[in-house]
Amino acid sequence: MKVFYCESQREHDPASFVVHGHERAYTEQPARADVLHEAALAAGCIAHVPDDFGLSSVEPVHTERYLDFLRDGLDAWRRATGAAGPMVPSFHPFGEAKVYPVSIVGRCGFHIADSTSPLSDGSWHAILRSAHAAHHAALAVLAGDGAAYALCRPPGHHAERERAGGFCYVNNVAVAVEQLRTRMRRIAVIDVDVHHGNGQQSIYYSDPDVLTVSLHVDPSVAYPFFSGGVHERGTGAAFGRNRNYPLPKGTGDDAYLAALDVACGEIGRFAPEALVVALGLDASKHDPFAYLQITERGFARIGMRLAQLGLPTVLVQEGGYLAPDLGDNLGAVLRAWR
Ligand SMILES: [Zn+2]
Repeated sequence: MKVFYCESQREHDPASFVVHGHERAYTEQPARADVLHEAALAAGCIAHVPDDFGLSSVEPVHTERYLDFLRDGLDAWRRATGAAGPMVPSFHPFGEAKVYPVSIVGRCGFHIADSTSPLSDGSWHAILRSAHAAHHAALAVLAGDGAAYALCRPPGHHAERERAGGFCYVNNVAVAVEQLRTRMRRIAVIDVDVHHGNGQQSIYYSDPDVLTVSLHVDPSVAYPFFSGGVHERGTGAAFGRNRNYPLPKGTGDDAYLAALDVACGEIGRFAPEALVVALGLDASKHDPFAYLQITERGFARIGMRLAQLGLPTVLVQEGGYLAPDLGDNLGAVLRAWR
């Protein structure tokens, strides 16, 4: 299997963020990518630097005004505010926005959902190169690879069509889906990150050709807090094309695998032509988030169950934070496709 990754993805490197009332070191660190890349190579992956696809990777997924904001917003912010540090929102729309602000301070609150997703020097280039990794991995699968791994960092599954959040800016899963859809019609997405995949859910909520499935800790106790319930099923012709499996805090391997089995049955009935896996590793019992209790053996079983679907598969890296088992858990999943 090929691993797509570019060193420039390290350039997004916020020093700190405010979370739970405390200023903390940024959790989504560049060092994650070093650990994950080394683990992918150790698991037998072959290193590939993704081509530079420019904006063509992200334009099918995100709006023009959002991409303009991600690319140019920091300069505008610095001119307007005189602040030298990262761009972080102070204000958010109350309910649905009725006005699209001209003010960069307003645009920042419109496009960034929370304080976990600052934009700083180097962010845009890293975000774009992360999307290129997903784009190129999808092309590899279209060219006949049975599976490909996109080491996307920063991650993407919380990013909506024009909104960043939860360390995510561009929805890399959707980048892969849109490339697959240039030659295929029905695509399934399964998200095994410990947090709900609200980004791809919202992007494909009314699209009957993309099935979005997410297993995650009960969102009433964890980020993203406001979505991820079982009643969110899709809309219109896509009703039934979104499935959420919220799991109680502390869920371990056997209960997780039982839910995954049900989710895989759903995917089988949908009969997709390809699968995109939002591969978060933060369900690990050793992850700093510690919401679920998945072991390395559990991750191996997750990989095997997904590989058993027998579909061309793009694996897109999502969460999973610095902990002694981070690389081992990635290797455990990837070895299922050997
Ligand atoms: Zn996560």
